[in-house]
Amino acid sequence: MTHNLDNLHARLASVRQSIQQAAERHQRMPETVALLAVSKTQPAVAIRMAAAAGQRRFGENYLQEALAKMAELGDLELEWHFIGPLQSNKTRPVAEHFAWVHSVDRLKLAERLSAQRPDALPPLNVCLQVNISAEASKSGCSLAELPELARAVATLPRLRLRGLMAIPAPAEGLAQQRQPFRRLREALEQLNATGLQLDTLSMGMSDDLEAAIAEGATLVRVGSAIFGARPPRA
Ligand SMILES: *Cc1c(COP(=O)(O)O)cnc(C)c1O
Repeated sequence: MTHNLDNLHARLASVRQSIQQAAERHQRMPETVALLAVSKTQPAVAIRMAAAAGQRRFGENYLQEALAKMAELGDLELEWHFIGPLQSNKTRPVAEHFAWVHSVDRLKLAERLSAQRPDALPPLNVCLQVNISAEASKSGCSLAELPELARAVATLPRLRLRGLMAIPAPAEGLAQQRQPFRRLREALEQLNATGLQLDTLSMGMSDDLEAAIAEGATLVRVGSAIFGARPPRA
């Protein structure tokens, strides 16, 4: 097998160090920035190695692939986050198997997840995905739709609305990269000013970690910087 897991440990340590340095540079406590290891397309053995190095939170985009890996890794205490686009006819397994969903962008999805969340599990943690760069092709609700969606989702009994998630359009340089993250942070502050209590800004990936942390990310979603380039999807 060509997949290179030899330096996974070193890469994970290096990502943790980048988070710590970015936090310190921007006057933040490093422990207020959680690391979500994005393991989509990576084999279960890679997740097992990251877990052995102390990583507990993992993000997955593809439902069938994620369920297979969860079954294989059932002996580990991991926290699974669904971060990919979600069709409304696929919500049940997400409601049953994940601790978090970051990609809720319409009320119908949220209603189904709430109705399908098993009573034996704690409420499903949810972030609303915002199309922060207003890209025509991208998922996420608009900033204009956000307040009404947030108010409605916050009332659903089996969900716990935690915050906002975004994937901005790629940009070069710290100042450019910070702009969409700032808009997302301001949106969260505005929602909290209307009485919501959101504590999560899910923003920043391998290439724009520092900008996201500078603007208040509480959870960064990092894939390739930990696991290396993604193998093609089978
Ligand atoms: C793939 C993915 C990531 C991780 O991207 P990298 O560039 O590999 O760090 C983060 N968030 C989402 C929603 C993703 O789909």
